Amino acid sequence: MSAPIAIIGTGIAGLSAAQALHAAGQHVELFDKSRGSGGRMSSKRSDAGSLDLGAQYFTARDRRFAEMVKQWRDRGWVAEWSPSLYNFAAGQLLPSPDEQIRWVGSPRMSAITRAMLGALPVSFACRITEVFHGERHWGLQDAEGLSHGPFSHVIVATPAPQATALLAAAPKLAGAAASVAMEPVWAVALGFDTPLDTRVEGCFVQDNPLDWVARNRSKPGREAGLDTWVLHASNAWSKQHLDLPKEVVIEHLHGAFAEMIGCAVPAPSFSLAHRWLYARPSQAHQWGALADADLGLYACGDWCLSGRVEGAWLSGQEAARRLLEHL
Ligand code: FAD
Ligand code: NAD
Repeated sequence: MSAPIAIIGTGIAGLSAAQALHAAGQHVELFDKSRGSGGRMSSKRSDAGSLDLGAQYFTARDRRFAEMVKQWRDRGWVAEWSPSLYNFAAGQLLPSPDEQIRWVGSPRMSAITRAMLGALPVSFACRITEVFHGERHWGLQDAEGLSHGPFSHVIVATPAPQATALLAAAPKLAGAAASVAMEPVWAVALGFDTPLDTRVEGCFVQDNPLDWVARNRSKPGREAGLDTWVLHASNAWSKQHLDLPKEVVIEHLHGAFAEMIGCAVPAPSFSLAHRWLYARPSQAHQWGALADADLGLYACGDWCLSGRVEGAWLSGQEAARRLLEHL
């Protein structure tokens, strides 16, 4: 048996590549610095139930991705979310319905990546610090000083700022990753004992510290204990307040939420804050994936296409396709 292919990152891009390679009969081995899969599509277990603090929903515009999502739906991994949508701009909160189909993982966002991972071999809580090439094979070094390998190829499927150092063996790829700026997002969850008196279930917000709010219980399959809301700060506000303590971020965003939502907002009985340092690339690219096929080193992730779930999945497919065509 030839050496397996290493994939660093178990977000949707890494798992998309893993599935495509596995389906083609290749052996893969995955690594993630977190304790579970999903990356920015992970869900946080909390006293208020499971919360999607990162990706809120996704759309499927590409034919291949739409086909995949249909299969996920048939297997029960995703469900359609049709929130009562609003838009808040210039101090006005107005209904903003549309015909767009929006998907969420069911019963939580992380259900998708967990199901995609299945029984593939993975090391969690394993932060890779170096990707090195031996005489014939690749090896990985982790933050504990342990080496992993040998591997025939390596796919780096982390956000661009974290990919740069891991791509050092291929300076062109490292340069491309280094050129991608990624924007931060502060996410806050607030849980209320008494449901808020509003019809809003999802709201796009303009010119405000907030950028988006969602009512957790309006998503299919979620627990309906507390009335829990997820608030996302805008990139600009998040950047400006990157180092604020979490309690202060909660206080600010609770205030902004109370001002825009148009009903009485009491003190929450549950709150938490999470800072996403690399939430989204500041611009879209058309790279698909990055490849040094002669070396056997690849990179994928949302930053190679659109900074969305769909882009990340497509990028993983593209990395796998380019690797397979060069075998
Ligand atoms: P990630 O999900 O970031 O996966 C990368 C993985 O690599 C992570 O698990 C990480 O732990 C791991 N990793 C990093 N460095 C190392 C290392 N050195 N060693 C080992 N492992 C490492 N998209 C939408 O389509 N709709 C939305 O509504 C939406 N909302 C969003 C809201 C927020 C707040 C955020 C943060 C993102 C949102 N997105 C949304 C974007 C979407 O979540 C991403 O585009 C997508 O999940 C990216 O997937 P990925 O696999 O490229 O990267
Ligand atoms: P989408 O078509 O629902 O949204 C795209 C954008 O169109 C929205 O951001 C919003 O500005 C606007 N929009 C859509 N429907 C609207 C409506 N009914 N009323 C008012 N404005 C509306 O979905 P998409 O293109 O798949 O994008 C996914 C979502 O993920 C977007 O909301 C995007 O902002 C968000 N996202 C957030 C981050 C982050 O870091 N916060 C990262 C990536 C993507």
